[in-house]
Amino acid sequence: MTFKSLSDSTVLSNGVKMPWLGLGVYKAKEGEEVEFAVKTAIRLGYRSIDTAAVYGNETGVGKAVRESGVPREELFITTKVWNSDQGYDSTLKAFEASLERLGMDYVDLYLIHWPVKGKYKETWKALEKLYKEGRVRAIGVSNFQTHHLDDLLQDAEINPMVNQVELHPWLTQKELREYCSRHHIVLEAWSPLMRGKVTEVPEIVRLAEKYGKTPAQIVLRWNLQIGVVTIPKSVREHRIRENADVFDFHLSEEDVAILEGLNRNHRTGPDPDNFNF
Ligand code: NDP
Repeated sequence: MTFKSLSDSTVLSNGVKMPWLGLGVYKAKEGEEVEFAVKTAIRLGYRSIDTAAVYGNETGVGKAVRESGVPREELFITTKVWNSDQGYDSTLKAFEASLERLGMDYVDLYLIHWPVKGKYKETWKALEKLYKEGRVRAIGVSNFQTHHLDDLLQDAEINPMVNQVELHPWLTQKELREYCSRHHIVLEAWSPLMRGKVTEVPEIVRLAEKYGKTPAQIVLRWNLQIGVVTIPKSVREHRIRENADVFDFHLSEEDVAILEGLNRNHRTGPDPDNFNF
């Protein structure tokens, strides 16, 4: 794999291209803040934006995309169906509401946000319908463990193309990575920067000094080199720029192994096997 720029993409199982690096907008405030982040990112070359109905900022994302000056078809927009909307009819309705807020007539990737027990299979049927109708270019899941995927794949007519999960140096997700690779599911990292904490990990700081890069850049580069799509969030221009400046160096195998060795199966977010929202 070679990575030269922000428009470099991986290819999903259905042939659709998805940029390796995008902008996350969880906790970017609706209105000026999210609009600034998205417009800045697009101006700096980002082509992928990750939002969700529950982030409450789809309207701002859509506005920024329209005002960016970059044609819609050159961008890759992801959104997600929230837990309380899961189920067949309610997902179809939630999708229309997301499109309305985004002001778009399709999204590139639609995800089931969390594996809500007893609901996610019905939700998946709705995603399959949207996919077959061409309302979404790709469909996938988020926060699915291997057993959730096993269960879904049993009944799915169309397999998920992406699984977006918490993944960073303290939660390297080795087993899930292998599983997804076997099933041609692209794995995507959320909280890749451990919400900023990567700057405090001594081993990562040492690697940053060695390569003349920042801790965030070391970790994002590691994501790319292990074949994981990554979506760091920032609402600040200097960090949006910093997080994209990962295409001019290469981590050695030994240094990739150092990062892999930091795993402690530590979650900064909820456990997909034990959540109540
Ligand atoms: P990240 O790991 O991307 O970290 C974001 C935090 O780190 C922010 O506080 C940001 O602050 C700060 N930051 C950004 N860049 C740097 C840098 N270079 N150096 C130091 N600090 C930095 O966390 P997120 O939880 O936001 O995850 C990324 C994206 O993944 C989300 O925005 C969302 O799109 C998605 N996500 C999906 C989930 C799911 O369930 N599917 C769950 C959580 C996230 P500032 O903005 O002030 O720069």
